Parts: sequence; C-alpha cells; structure tokens
Amino acid sequence: MKKIPFLDLKHINGQYRDEILLAITRVLDSGWYIRGKECERFEQNFANYCGTDFCIGVGNGLDALSLIFRAYKELGVLHDRDEVLVPSNTYIASILSITQNNLNPVLIEPRLETYNLNPDLIEGLITPKTKAIMAVHLYGQPAEMMKIKGIATKHNLKVIEDAAQAHGAELEGHKVGSLSDAAGFSFYPGKNLGALGDGGAVTTNAAELAEVIRSISNYGSQKKYVNKYKGVNSRLDELQAAILNVKLQYLDRENSHRTELANFYLSELRSDKIALPKIVDGCKSAWHLFVVRSRTREIIQEALLKSGIQTLLHYPIAPHHQKAYKEWGQHSYPLSEQIHNEIFSLPISPVMQMRDAKFIVDCINNL
Ligand SMILES: *Cc1c(COP(=O)(O)O)cnc(C)c1O
Repeated sequence: MKKIPFLDLKHINGQYRDEILLAITRVLDSGWYIRGKECERFEQNFANYCGTDFCIGVGNGLDALSLIFRAYKELGVLHDRDEVLVPSNTYIASILSITQNNLNPVLIEPRLETYNLNPDLIEGLITPKTKAIMAVHLYGQPAEMMKIKGIATKHNLKVIEDAAQAHGAELEGHKVGSLSDAAGFSFYPGKNLGALGDGGAVTTNAAELAEVIRSISNYGSQKKYVNKYKGVNSRLDELQAAILNVKLQYLDRENSHRTELANFYLSELRSDKIALPKIVDGCKSAWHLFVVRSRTREIIQEALLKSGIQTLLHYPIAPHHQKAYKEWGQHSYPLSEQIHNEIFSLPISPVMQMRDAKFIVDCINNL
C-alpha cells in the first residue's frame, strides 16, 4: 500500500543536497564556527526578506521569543509580574517564553474558524498590569494584526509576534516579522524554513532592542569579556546559518506549493463531517499546517490511517490542561478546549504531490 507520511524531511532537504553539502564544506573549511560571516549574511538576508531593519540569529524559537521579553525588561519597558496576553490555544513555547521571564501570561480565546486570537476579546482582559500582547500566527496564518495593533496603540502595549510557524506569510502585502515591535522565528527542522538542527531569529525595526537582544544572547556582552547584562548563550551557529542561506532562496517556491495543496483541499473537500480552516481577507498564509475540525476525528483519522495517510494533532492538550501550568487547571477556555478536542492536521508539505492530495480528498469525501 502507498503511504503518505505527514512530513518527509529527508525528501525536503534532499532537494538541496548538493547546495547544502557545499555550504557545510565552506563552513568546515573556514575554521570559524560561531558568530561569523554565514550568520551575518543570513541575518541580512532574513531581515531583507521580512522587510525589517534588524535580524538577530539565536539558538532556537523559544529563545527568540524569550529574549524579546528579557530585553524589554532590561530596557525598563517590562517588569516582573506584568501581564502579557497570549492565545489560549497556542503551542506551549509561546507561553513558556512569558513565564521564563517572570511575566504573567493571560490567556485569550481564539476564533474557532481561524484558530487565531480574537481581537474583540482583548479590551475586556486589559488591566493596569497589562503591558504586551503576543500574537501567534498559528498554523501559518497571520493573526489580525491591524486590529491588534490599533488596540495596542490605544493602551500603550507592546506587540510581539510568534512567527515560528509562518515564515513568508503576509498580511496586506507585509511579511510577518515586520508587523509588530519584534517577532520571534524558529528554524526547527519541521518549520517552513527549517535548519538541520535548532535555530531561531528575532526580527525588529527597533535598533536599541536589537542591540540588547544581541548582547544578552551572547553572555550579555557586546565587547568580549565585558558583561553588561546577566546574559545567556543562545546563538545561531555558522553551519545552521549557511544551510538556512541555501534554503531561504527556496522558501517562496515551497510556500507556493503548500498554497496550491491548501487551495485544493479548500475547494475539493466536501465532507459535512469536517470543518475547514478560514483564511481572513488580505491574508496570505504560509500553510505550515492544514488543520481541520471534526466531532468524529478519531474515526476519520483511523479510516485515513487504514489508507496509509498519516495525520497528527496540533495540539492534543490545551496549555491550561498541562501539568506544567496546573495553576490554571480550574480555568475554563471553552473555545480552546473545543479546538483541542476536534482538530487534526492533514499532510501538507513542499514535496507532497498533488495526486496525494487528491487521494486524501477522495478518502475523506467517501467516508
Ligand atoms: C516551534 C514553535 C516555537 C518554538 O520554536 P523552537 O525552535 O522549537 O524553540 C514557538 N512557537 C510556536 C508557535 C512554534 O510552533
């Protein structure tokens, strides 16, 4: 039986095998492995790509987000126990980046149809302690940034994008990463722009913030052996940067292919057993994931698996039901709970064939 895997990273990276091997050899032969030309070039390339003045390569996506908060604390913009609004259905890393910095996450419910945070709920949650909003472009679709920024300006709040799933996504012609005060990206291998290991970046137009983040990510030091902050070690190494320089050239092409597959799913899936994701006007999703909802997801997943089609849950447990956040165990976030109970993700990837999408659509429509 033919198998359709959820994601085939070997195949995705194999497309660029020769170029990646050249890049790796170049780094090997350079004798310089941390904070060198490859990272500098990638930071420049990625800032240009996103349309921002600055990009700082860091160790991973969680660090990218966390360093933004940490830098705002060093700059005196944020203080211990300030509140940060963050979607109740996001991946746990968004929330960890807040609690790591001794800030208080306040969960905000998403819209059921887009899975992104509902801006109409923001003002009801603002208190004197609220200082920032973290907008997550979940599954690749930009959050409703224009509304979010309007409210943030009115209440003097910082806006931070978690763009870990949305490299290349656009809102009204502007790339994610350029839609807020600062954005965090992940280059975890499975992301739209993935390294062969861990990697991350912050993009921003704020020069001072960029400088502080760069410094904190390198032991809090700007000048070697001079430490201004109690920093951390979170850097994008030369090997990963060189590989990302190769893969960034193909990101738009890969996202276009994802979009073709997604549009096919959207126009051809006709089962009344599943609800399709809605894309907001003016949004260009990066289609990191294609997430549908069903009251009978176990039955559908089982039937697809029998036909060789692998599906996954993003994510099976709501953040407020995680043991790590047991202090929220009694809280109720009904939309997030419904989402976590009903969603499952269909395969979508830059190397998936259109005929595989047709096969998946036929399987579901015939259930
Ligand atoms: C992957 C991811 C992160 C964290 O990135 P890492 O590189 O794995 O640390 C943060 N937020 C979201 C929404 C993600 O999907």
